Formats: sequence, structure tokens, C-alpha cells
Amino acid sequence: MGGLHKGHTHLINAAKLASRDQSASVVVSVFVNPLQFGPKEDFQNYPRDIESDFDLANEAGASVIWAPTINDIFPGGPSSHFNLKVPVELNDHLCGPYRPGHFNGVASVMIRLLTIIKPQILFLGEKDWQQLIIIRRLVEDLDLPVKVRGIKTIRDPDGMACSTRNEKLSPSQRLKAVELSKQLAKAVEKNKKGDSIDTNHMKLELKKSGLTVDYLETVDPYSLKIINPKEKLCLLAGAIRCGEIRLIDHTFLMTRKPLVAIDGPAGAGKSTVTRKFAEKLKLLYLDTGAMYRAVTWLIQDQNVDIKDKVALNNMLKNLDLKLEKSPNGDQTISINGDNVTEQIRTSGVTAFVSQVATISSIREFLTKQQKSMGINGGIVAEGRDIGTSVFPDAELKIYLTASSKERALRRASDLKKRGIQVPSLEDLENQIQQRDELDSTRDISPLKKAEDAIELKTDGMNIDEVVEKLIELFQSKVPEEIWPSASY
Ligand code: C5P
Repeated sequence: MGGLHKGHTHLINAAKLASRDQSASVVVSVFVNPLQFGPKEDFQNYPRDIESDFDLANEAGASVIWAPTINDIFPGGPSSHFNLKVPVELNDHLCGPYRPGHFNGVASVMIRLLTIIKPQILFLGEKDWQQLIIIRRLVEDLDLPVKVRGIKTIRDPDGMACSTRNEKLSPSQRLKAVELSKQLAKAVEKNKKGDSIDTNHMKLELKKSGLTVDYLETVDPYSLKIINPKEKLCLLAGAIRCGEIRLIDHTFLMTRKPLVAIDGPAGAGKSTVTRKFAEKLKLLYLDTGAMYRAVTWLIQDQNVDIKDKVALNNMLKNLDLKLEKSPNGDQTISINGDNVTEQIRTSGVTAFVSQVATISSIREFLTKQQKSMGINGGIVAEGRDIGTSVFPDAELKIYLTASSKERALRRASDLKKRGIQVPSLEDLENQIQQRDELDSTRDISPLKKAEDAIELKTDGMNIDEVVEKLIELFQSKVPEEIWPSASY
């Protein structure tokens, strides 16, 4: 809506970075949308200065600044077009109840802007978080051919979130208004220490500073439903009024780094894409299949009878399983001091591992170790039960799959690359199907898609395309504020 500031510069920079890969242009739209202002709101007085917007966008490196007139967007007038209605569940918290019709107006104009410009990627500030979530849903529901990227909130040195409306604050009002960002920052510190967040107390503090509080709520950042801050990732968002000026701000409460769970059947290409994805996002890669394989190797090496519970328990009692990064970046795995990185890929281990993986004491042992590796987050783990049992609270859960033919082809090329003898494609497909059968029918933590996992069928996609899709899905589930894309 114009009134560009350094938050917008940041958006333009993010778009510029992405446009280089796509050899595309960066279009900055400036349109003060009459549909999103209520009758008592400041449409007439909303700050407009197209000259300085042009200078800022130009300096930031935008290719085009597009400032259509109301008639360009709504020929015949704003009320002569279809208006969209935002689903109640996305509108009944945060700003929705305080600004009736606002998000309907935002969604309605967004459709017009998108259909005129037809961008490949739409960059939106996370500052207006509810708007971002609503537009993501709009794009998903209408299957619009555009990717939506949220970009983190930029703040002034005093902590206040950059906003066009800040310009309207007098110096003394600004001193009061900054209290909202201060309270939010305090809540983040408290949450890190494990202290509870008392929004009522925070509201009192805001009132003491001379502000009127519209709301201060803790909600799930994606469903926007009220949650307790102790539950996984939480959005703490508030709106205050300082005199006539209404300001919003938010923060995220999270006590660990993000977790990503990638499950799926054998040979779906999980290891290759997960490793690349982890590297790009600067997250640690955890191959849990390698852990089951290492235990299988040990059982075979020591001739342990898997029906002998005492022998198995003795083996587990002294088990020392280590996953480490080798100097060339690959993951190495050692068991009781033996580096078994290569041995665990042999056909002998592959043929036996799914049987070993049905044993409850082994699953308990490995699941416990995996959970403790993920306690601080920052991990992408791949396996069969990550989203359902190891990290059920992962921010992003993927169920990666492909047809068994495609999987056999991929397994063959993987074995070839490792210098391991390649069986016939028919044999490979049979082995894969047998393993899938054992993995998905076992009693404990069978292979299955977690309810909240996103299924990704990768037939016909190459590795880079799958990794790109995973990054896009990650960006839609983890705020940039939490895991800035500048780092990957
Ligand atoms: O992924 P990979 O093919 O290396 O896994 C080997 C086997 O380990 C799987 O077929 C499955 O039987 C077992 N596994 C499991 N749970 C996991 C990872 C692997 O049961 N989380």
C-alpha cells in the first residue's frame, strides 16, 4: 500500500535474490486498496507518497514500480466486482473481529493484483502475519499458479516493527508504542527460560504505558487457533492503539530449532534429497535407516539370535552407536567403535534389516537415541516412523513416495554409484515390495503417512526439483523469522 520503508527494501532484496535464479523481474505494487478499510478507518488519510516510494523501490533494485489507479484495478468502481469471503476459522481471531470485512477486501484485491501481474513468486511481509496466512490459503484453495514467500519483519533500532503507520506517531506516542515490541521481546526471553507467558499481565503493562489493547493472543501460527504457548511453535500477536493510530506486532515462541520429518517407503530417494535439503537449509541430517542397518550388521557379525531376548538385551546394554560427519561432509556411522558406513549397504544387511526393525527392544533403543538427538531441533530426519513416532511435533512432515518401478530404478543407480553389484530390476522391485510389506504391517510404529504429513509423489521429478519443492514446503511451515532464508 505504499509508504515504503526499509521493511519493503528487505522484501525487494529477497525478490531480487530469487529473480536472479529465475531470470525474472521484480515488480513492486503500490495500491491503497479501498476494500480493506472499514468505514471509520483511515483510507483518506493513509500515508501516500508515490515519489518517495519510487525512489526507495528504485534504489532497492526493483525492475518496475506499478501504481495502478482504483479504476485500473476495479473498472466501474470497487463494488462492481466479485468480492471474496475469508473462511471464518482464519478470521475469528487476531485482527479479524476488530476489522470486519478487512481481510475480505485484502483477498479480493489480491486476486486482481495476481491475475494482472501473474507473478511466479509473491513476496509478502511476515509483519502482517494473518494476511500472509489468509493469502497462502487463498492461493492453495484456488490453486493459483504462484508461490507465496513470507519475509521476516524488519525492526528499527528501538525494536519497533517497521510500518507505514509509524510515520503518523508523534515522538511522545512513539515512546509509548514501542512498549508492544518490548513486551513481545520479554516474552521470548521468558519462554526460552521455560517461564510461562501471562498475556493478561502483558496487557496490563501495555495499558500502564498509555496504550489501548485490542488483543494480545497466543495462537497456532498456521491454523490461527488459540493454543497454549507450551505447545510447539506459537504465535504471540498483539494489536494496540496509540491515540488514533492502530499498530500490530508479533513474535514467535519456540524453545528449539525446527524439525523436519521425512518418511516413506524404500528407494523413494529419501536419503539423497534429505541430505541435499539439510545441507541447503543448514540443518543436521539424520539417516535413521542407517541406525537400523548398523544394528542389523552387528547382529549378523556377532551371530546374535534375534529370538533370544536375553542376548538381544545384552547387546543393547553395551551398544555404542555413533553418527558423525566425515571431513567430506558425508555421514559416517560406527557401532561399538567399528566404522560400518560401507558394510551397512550390502545386500545381506538390506535383506535382513526390516525383520530386525520389527523387534520392540531395538525400536525402543533407537527411537530413544533419535529423540535425544533432536531435543534441540535443527534436524531433518528421514526414516519410516519419524513423523508418527520419533518427532510427532515436527514443523514439517513429508511422506515421500514414488511408484515401485521408479524406486527400483533409483535403487539400481544408487547401488551402481556405490560400486555395489546391481541385481536385476525385477529382483530389486521385488525386494523393495517385500521390505515395504514388512515395514508397513509390523505392530510397532509401522510405515505410514502421519495424518498431518504432506504426501509428495516424486515420479518424473529430478533430485533438484524435489529439493526445491521441499524448501518451498519448509518455507510455508516455518516462519522466515525463525529460520531466515538469508542463511540458506
Ligand atoms: O531407509 P533405509 O532403506 O536405509 O532403511 C532400512 C530399513 O530400516 C527400513 O526398510 C526399515 O525396515 C527400517 N527403518 C525403520 N524405521 C526407520 C528407519 C528405517 O523401521 N525410522
